[in-house]
Amino acid sequence: SFFKLVRRPILAGLLVSALFLVIHLVVVLFTSQGVFVTRLDYGLQSLASNVLAVGLQIFIASALAEAILFTSPERWFEAGPLEPSPAEKSLQTRFTVNMAPLALILLLTLMIGDWIVAGEAAREMIRSQMSNAAEMSAQSVPYFLETGQNLITKLARDPELMSDNSIQLSELLAESIRTVPYFNQLSIIGKEGQLISSYPTAYNVGPQSPVDEQMGIQFALDGMPFQYYSIPPVEGQKTAQISFLAAIFDQAGDPQRVLIGRADLENNPFSQPILSSLHKLTGEDDIGMLIDGNKRILAHPDPLMVMTTYTGRTADTPLFYIDTDPGGNRMLVYSQPAQGRDWSIVLMAPVYRAQELALQIATPLLAMIVVLSIVALIILRFGLGMVTASLKTLSLEAGRIAQGKLDQPLPANSVDEVGQLRRSFESMRVSLKGRLDELNRLLIVSQGVASSLEFSEAVQPILEAALATGASAARVVLAPNIVHAQDGTPSMPMMYGLGPSQNLYRDLDEQILALTRQQDRLVLPNLQRPRLLNVAPGAPHPESLMAIALRHESLYYGTLWIAYDQPHTFSEEEVRFMVTLGGQAALAAANSRLFLSAEIGRQRLESILASSPDPVLVTDQRDQLLLANPAAWQVLGLNLDETNTGKPINQVIDEPELVNLLRTTSPEKQSVEVSLPGGRVFLATATPVLAEGQRIGRVCILRDVTHFKELDALKSEFVSTVSHDLRSPLTLMRGYATMLEMVGQLNEQQENYVRKIIAGVENMARLVNNLLDLGRIESGVGLQVETINIQDVVDRVVGSLQLQAAQKRIQLTSEFPGGSQPLIEADQALLQQALHNLVENAIKYTRPEGKVHVRVRIQPLGVVFEVIDNGNGISPVDQPRLFEKFYRSVQQGSKEQRGTGLGLAIVKSIAERHGGKAWAESQLGKGSTFYLAIPIHQGIHEVKI
Ligand code: ADP
Repeated sequence: SFFKLVRRPILAGLLVSALFLVIHLVVVLFTSQGVFVTRLDYGLQSLASNVLAVGLQIFIASALAEAILFTSPERWFEAGPLEPSPAEKSLQTRFTVNMAPLALILLLTLMIGDWIVAGEAAREMIRSQMSNAAEMSAQSVPYFLETGQNLITKLARDPELMSDNSIQLSELLAESIRTVPYFNQLSIIGKEGQLISSYPTAYNVGPQSPVDEQMGIQFALDGMPFQYYSIPPVEGQKTAQISFLAAIFDQAGDPQRVLIGRADLENNPFSQPILSSLHKLTGEDDIGMLIDGNKRILAHPDPLMVMTTYTGRTADTPLFYIDTDPGGNRMLVYSQPAQGRDWSIVLMAPVYRAQELALQIATPLLAMIVVLSIVALIILRFGLGMVTASLKTLSLEAGRIAQGKLDQPLPANSVDEVGQLRRSFESMRVSLKGRLDELNRLLIVSQGVASSLEFSEAVQPILEAALATGASAARVVLAPNIVHAQDGTPSMPMMYGLGPSQNLYRDLDEQILALTRQQDRLVLPNLQRPRLLNVAPGAPHPESLMAIALRHESLYYGTLWIAYDQPHTFSEEEVRFMVTLGGQAALAAANSRLFLSAEIGRQRLESILASSPDPVLVTDQRDQLLLANPAAWQVLGLNLDETNTGKPINQVIDEPELVNLLRTTSPEKQSVEVSLPGGRVFLATATPVLAEGQRIGRVCILRDVTHFKELDALKSEFVSTVSHDLRSPLTLMRGYATMLEMVGQLNEQQENYVRKIIAGVENMARLVNNLLDLGRIESGVGLQVETINIQDVVDRVVGSLQLQAAQKRIQLTSEFPGGSQPLIEADQALLQQALHNLVENAIKYTRPEGKVHVRVRIQPLGVVFEVIDNGNGISPVDQPRLFEKFYRSVQQGSKEQRGTGLGLAIVKSIAERHGGKAWAESQLGKGSTFYLAIPIHQGIHEVKI
């Protein structure tokens, strides 16, 4: 702003020049000599030229500085940051600073005006003084001259003046001077200009007369009866002399002689009024002058000036002007012409007299102005101080409000603007406090709702908050469908009330509940007007009432209502507050309902679990035991009681298989057989529990499969015993059946029968062999693991079945991944048999002229054999059971093929013996793909592919 601008050198220079004006004036006033007014006068006179000279210097300097700042600002000095001026910090100072120039201008105007008026008045006073004096002098001048003329002409008429007796003449002249004290010297001049007689002494008369007088003598001798002239003073005198000349005529009327009467202005009684008026001016530097028609000075305070020529102006009318005398002093000049004569009176007074006078006139007024303005300033500052003081206390109070101290009311002690401000602050505080209180109550309410699932607990703060609005009763009524649990028994109370009148009005509950079911808000400032509620005559009823429907997620929970004993108009805020309370109440009801139903569900589940004969274990995501049902305690040992829930399962359960199962991270369902001490075998199935895609633990159900296991073992044992015992008779039967041809010629029919017997026996032998193989594989004896070449295995199988394929005109091919010879650890005979079974099946269940393809894929951890055909395919119904023992598909094509239903079971057994896996993918009518996966290294049975 202004201060920023002042940092520009050029503007700073301008400001300094302005400052110099004042400084110069002060310096001149104190250093120059003379009266105060002269100094002031001089200062003002020289102001313009001095300021111009200095101002020009400053201007050039600042322009240079500005140019430097403009061209290279970085070389300019580092200016500190602007600080707020005192005026910006305080209202009082700002007001003073803003008012100061105004007041100063006003003061200056007043002073200058005063000065001008006073100056005018002083000048006028001096002028009138001068004109008075001059007037008097001017009036006396014609009287003086006329007297001189009359006297001299009267004297000249005396005939005795013509006598030649000089003594007589001299006596006559002396006589004349004595009788009329006007002339100080009388002389008679003869026809040739020679002095005839003179009294008292004859100096400077006749031939020695001043030039003017000699000229006058000539004129008189030529017949001019009367003249007068100004001549230099007599020696020792200070004023000029006036010389009156009269011609002396003889009988015939010719001029014969001249009578000269000289009058000394200083001593002449008739000139005294003139001179005394001239000296009437008081000051020592004042000058009063008498000037004749030839502008010669006749009387002057300075005798040296007498008879010199006056250089100033004179006129026919009085003049008043200012003139500068040769000494350089300025003078006030007044000139007044004498009446009827060419003489003038000139009065002079130095200008400073007028200024002094003006100062005298102006001083009291100036003093008064100064005093008044000081008083005004003090009053203003004091008044402002009062205003700012009350503003300051107000800002303190506002600060308190801002800090949240709302309890102290602001006293309203005035009706002015500050008082109004204070009042609005007060109302702000009150409403803020109200809002804060309301918020506080709501906070308590929501805390209650959040902290308690019991509705009867949560509803208490809500009722209290509702009562705090001034109501005499606050009630919450729950709808019947909320109160009753699914089985119809009430699970929580239906009504809650608080307040002095709550029991008086409880009869209204039913009606209000029914009304708010339709209508979210019921605001009845006057119960009489809309007859919505039926009140029994004489029964107590409130005067006004407000009810809010409790709704949460479009379910109607009941109503919250408050009643007043007096009529009450409900403000917008009250309704809003009640609606908020209603929302909280609905939330509380919804929470406790939800909690109740969840609790009921939980209890149901608990009893289901408790009554289940199968052990159930539940873990959380950190593999800690969460829950174990009584069956589990029983089966898994005694240490599974309440105290062990929450512990890591490996500390609680001893069975490593079960622990591993519960701790796997696999996202799928997994099963494992667990044999427990005591000979019982359980099939444990663990399923991950997922919540929003996150695994939060596992549920493990154990089923007692001891019985099935026993049955299975029994079956296997039976089968293997039977098949073992069947093998020798079957060999025998086959031997003898073959030998039949050898012992004699058989006819065609016999041969046919023998072939059938042999086929049947072979079939049976195969079955028996398969059964024995399966038994051997399952029992796990004789697994001979060695490092084998996969390609050898595949080549051998494909080679041995090539003939069979060729008979059906089936194209049998194999494929290997390029690169190194793949080696794996496995039992060569078993692997070969498994692959053989798969390829044989593929040839069997593919129509003639089909295709069978064997592909090997090598993966980091194992080898996958794929047997792909384009045969019949397997229906989805059969697919899950393909690998079961004795399972044969009933579909077309399978019937024609002889089989035991054991081939795939053997494949599966072999795969599992190697820690691998077998599975199939098939599409009916398009073909099937059978997979056999074997790990590269044996002994790492955990590896699942
Ligand atoms: P079988 O001795 O009957 O072949 P398997 O255990 O080898 O017994 O096969 C079981 C059943 O699976 C067969 O009866 C057949 O229906 C079906 N099957 C096996 N391999 C194939 C295949 N490549 N294409 C179609 N069905 C097949």
